[in-house]
Amino acid sequence: MLIVGSDHAAVEHHLVAGELRCPSCRGELRPWGSARQRPVREGGAETAFTPRRSRCSSCEKTHVLLPDTTLLRRRDTLSVIGAALLAKAGGEGSRRIGRRLLVHPDTVRGWLRRFATRAEGWRAHCWAWAHALDASLPAIAPAGSVFADAVSAVGLAVAAATRRFGPRPGWGWVAVITAGGLLSNTSSLSIAT
Ligand SMILES: [Zn+2]
Repeated sequence: MLIVGSDHAAVEHHLVAGELRCPSCRGELRPWGSARQRPVREGGAETAFTPRRSRCSSCEKTHVLLPDTTLLRRRDTLSVIGAALLAKAGGEGSRRIGRRLLVHPDTVRGWLRRFATRAEGWRAHCWAWAHALDASLPAIAPAGSVFADAVSAVGLAVAAATRRFGPRPGWGWVAVITAGGLLSNTSSLSIAT
């Protein structure tokens, strides 16, 4: 799996031009059909899209190209899920969050629980990213709850990535920094700058 931008035409252009690199070996990715269609939900409306699949010309592994607006195995967009995490870190309850974002409160509770179980890991991961991207950052100390700290660590890493490489639309940097796995239960993440 490779996180790519949300502009499908631009991604297709880069893929055909051989400008996308294999996340395993840095070889050249080539078009390789499509992955299964998946639903995407935002603002109470659901659409569907079919992610592109690619194949490495060196190691021959296939990689699904996942837009940076989505997360692995989640139907709601990253901006909706991110807004819910931010709201929870700010003290809002899941019922209100769900009402505001037009998502069932049980779904919101599921996201918050999943993030909370790995909050300490995300805090460490994102602090490491922030420091790797910006060596001038002072040491960061825990401030509040682990949950709120982890959410603010994501923000620090995004800010550092934006300073170093420029902005990515929407929550794109969060998808890149977490390899789409912000709400996944396992992680084999490394810092790849
Ligand atoms: Zn490869």
